[in-house]
Amino acid sequence: MNITATHINLYHVCRRELWLHANGIRMEHTSDVVAEGKMIGDTSYPERAERYTEIEIDGVKIDFYDARNRVVHEVKKSDSVENAHIAQVKYYLYKLRQHGMEDATGIIEYPKMRQRESVELKEEDITAIKGWESDITDIVSGNTCPPVIHSKLCRRCSYYDFCYVEEESD
Ligand code: SF4
Repeated sequence: MNITATHINLYHVCRRELWLHANGIRMEHTSDVVAEGKMIGDTSYPERAERYTEIEIDGVKIDFYDARNRVVHEVKKSDSVENAHIAQVKYYLYKLRQHGMEDATGIIEYPKMRQRESVELKEEDITAIKGWESDITDIVSGNTCPPVIHSKLCRRCSYYDFCYVEEESD
């Protein structure tokens, strides 16, 4: 399968969400959080068009790539640094490395917190990423949707109503 950065991100958030997304069940349009995130991504860095290029490698789209300095920029609406964000950017760096850009680095921008997180791809990350890809392929091709995770993350997930409909109607 063609693994994307979204798959990598969701794999680190919730395997059920990964499965639902990959199997074409979408609810994003109902989520205000997603709409807000899109707005932050579109408006917080108006200089993006001049400094960054959008590139695509093996179907993996990188929205903000500073080709001159070989830096991937990723903007997140979140008010906390999350492992899934770092994993997503490491995956971009992994893809760049596979295509000869071995020294590329990443910066995750958190406009709400006015904070930046630097990301590097280390040797041990490459082994881990191969494991993520294999796990993702197994999960997505499975016939069964993984179980609800009962995490505080669920409250801001676009699948919340879908996952908790039975419990809410009890
Ligand atoms: S609501 Fe929770 S269990 Fe359901 S997909 Fe989202 S994060 Fe996963």
